[in-house]
Amino acid sequence: MTDPYRQITFAGNGPWAAFSQNELYRMAGEANSGPLHIRVLFAAMGRMNAFGHAELRVGELARILGTTNTSTGEVTPCRRDSVSAAIKETKRRGLIAPESKSRCLVLRHHVFQKSTKDRWRCSVHDLD
Ligand SMILES: [Zn+2]
Repeated sequence: MTDPYRQITFAGNGPWAAFSQNELYRMAGEANSGPLHIRVLFAAMGRMNAFGHAELRVGELARILGTTNTSTGEVTPCRRDSVSAAIKETKRRGLIAPESKSRCLVLRHHVFQKSTKDRWRCSVHDLD
């Protein structure tokens, strides 16, 4: 029997494409990638597991969305209220699921799927 986590199947057997999670995660950290809700989406896509959960370390999203000093390379983390507002806006636009939070951004299975042999879990949402 085929492993369900290795199979990508969208409704109606519709077409799909793949993306580089490393590149999307990198783009999430670049201010010129667009507004914060787009960068939050990129962070989620860059870290999502087979369940669509993108677990992040404490403060990781604030650093991703922070500003980088171009001469020193030093990152000033995004303010906590700005991170919360960005997550809220990303949810409002339907880009991430309502259960998303700064420690785990959740993508919907009907939009994003990942083929992997790993059985990743989510400790933030207590999934296994
Ligand atoms: Zn989660």
